[in-house]
Amino acid sequence: MFRLEILPARYGDCILLEYGSDPVRRMLIDGGAPGVYKRALKPRLQELSDSEREFELLVVTHVDYDHIRGIIELAQDDSLPFTAKDVWFNGYRHLPQPPGPKVLAGKHGELLTDIILKNGHSWNCHGFNGNAVVIPESGVLPRIEFDEGLTITLMGPTIPMLTDLRKDWEKSCLDIDITPGELEEARAEGRFALLGDEEETPPEPERPDIEQLLREEYTEDHSSANGSSIAFLVEYDNYRVLLAGDAHPSTLVESIKHLGDDKLKLDLCKLPHHGSRGSVSSDLIQHLDCENYIFSSNGDQFQHPHPEAVARVIEHGGDKPRLWFNYCSDETLIWNDKTLRNAYGYEACYPEEENGGLLFVQGDDE
Ligand SMILES: [Zn+2]
Repeated sequence: MFRLEILPARYGDCILLEYGSDPVRRMLIDGGAPGVYKRALKPRLQELSDSEREFELLVVTHVDYDHIRGIIELAQDDSLPFTAKDVWFNGYRHLPQPPGPKVLAGKHGELLTDIILKNGHSWNCHGFNGNAVVIPESGVLPRIEFDEGLTITLMGPTIPMLTDLRKDWEKSCLDIDITPGELEEARAEGRFALLGDEEETPPEPERPDIEQLLREEYTEDHSSANGSSIAFLVEYDNYRVLLAGDAHPSTLVESIKHLGDDKLKLDLCKLPHHGSRGSVSSDLIQHLDCENYIFSSNGDQFQHPHPEAVARVIEHGGDKPRLWFNYCSDETLIWNDKTLRNAYGYEACYPEEENGGLLFVQGDDE
């Protein structure tokens, strides 16, 4: 049994993976944007018994708020016991020191670091001996085995990506006047107070012109935080899923080539960065052999998924790609146009639940 649940994470990611039987094993990947913990993640975890809330792995793909926020809330919620045998998260200590003068994004990363250390969690241990979860400069991609035959192949980040993040991490820490690594003092002075919810910009829906969208110039995302995303291929029982975090597409393409595949064969692909125009390149989609593409966003903040990204999946995603949206929003409903679907041969799939979310099940669901 393999179940992948794309929880309604607002403009972020929050993914629950369940596999095996007797006992069923679980992994949690990211915790979504503000409000997601209370509305979606906590209620979902409350459906599990205390012993079922002992997870094999918790992955925080990167420090951005739309991924880390729900995990911070989970870690601070004493009313809900939750443990993971290991946490994969690249904190400041895992970021390589770049050459040149020491420079100072990571205030939320520091907060999570504080929680991990305080609680004595096993941190980046399984597969990485406490070091960074990163692709080495040479050699094969790290392939990590878990109980019951589930394997994870790391597709990102690379060492240069983590080096880039280090500069922005330091800059972000300056905002709340803390020095990365000096946590005791910051905690004592209450400098880790969570930030409030951000203002939201109303989205501007427009009718997609696919030919025009395909002609739009492509510029790759250059956020160091996104580039530092832990991205990986999950394999279980011949079922293959790519969970791309917010990784840069060029990193993913390099990893695919590294695996020696012309095209990476997948059953499901959680597209990087919520389907942003700078993160879903035609090149990436051309390197996948996949029928099912997941876009995780409700459109808040950045109006994801961007129409250029969706158009590239429709054009390059195989004979009849299925677009899976985890929300009905202005950005996603425009793709449910029958004329467009017939002309371009794709399917648009939407959540059954009013509040969003998607569920994929392979094998017997218990
Ligand atoms: Zn994100």
